Amino acid sequence: MNLIMFGPPGAGKGTQARLIQDKYHIKQLSTGDMLRGEVASGSDLGNRLKAIMDAGELVSDEIIIELIANCISEPECEKGFILDGFPRTVGQAEALDNMLQHMARKIDHVIVLEVDEDALIDRIRTRAEQTGGQRSDDNAETLKNRLKVYNDQTAPVLPYYENHGVLRHIDGMQAIEEVTALIDAILDQAQAA
Ligand code: AMP
Repeated sequence: MNLIMFGPPGAGKGTQARLIQDKYHIKQLSTGDMLRGEVASGSDLGNRLKAIMDAGELVSDEIIIELIANCISEPECEKGFILDGFPRTVGQAEALDNMLQHMARKIDHVIVLEVDEDALIDRIRTRAEQTGGQRSDDNAETLKNRLKVYNDQTAPVLPYYENHGVLRHIDGMQAIEEVTALIDAILDQAQAA
């Protein structure tokens, strides 16, 4: 089973992807975590990535597509994967389709977490407090740009998947356990079919 978690920053994609990983034993692939790993390494590339991420902009499709291509061909993704934070542009979605076609695989569900934009500011503030400011892009100013980038560049990915008939909309404003239950219902039903 291959999934995409979709939604604006702070919607809860990472939290839900981790829970799905534990329950269904399919691999969470978070491009944000991978990029933060590169930043933490202190490499030249990491320093360049940090500047882009701190501004709330997107890293180039080329870098991201290569990252994902390397991951999904790994044995740990054989049973399936959950893409968390990818694709974020139509170009990335097209490249993903290309890769999957070559591997005779496909995306089964795109789980869209619907959230109220005003509530996201509060969520990001809470996350910043809980993680002790670990993420330098978790602040109100960067979030504003991340939301703009989401609306301008990432939301247009949705019509792309609409045509594939794989979109599953979920109310992401509910408590974590309730969102998890809604996702489970979709995935369990799909597995039983
Ligand atoms: P996230 O942890 O998913 O919120 O990602 C944090 C930051 O990493 C984003 O604001 C972007 O700067 C960068 N990033 C993560 N995933 C992607 C992607 N698929 N395409 C471009 N940039 C990305």
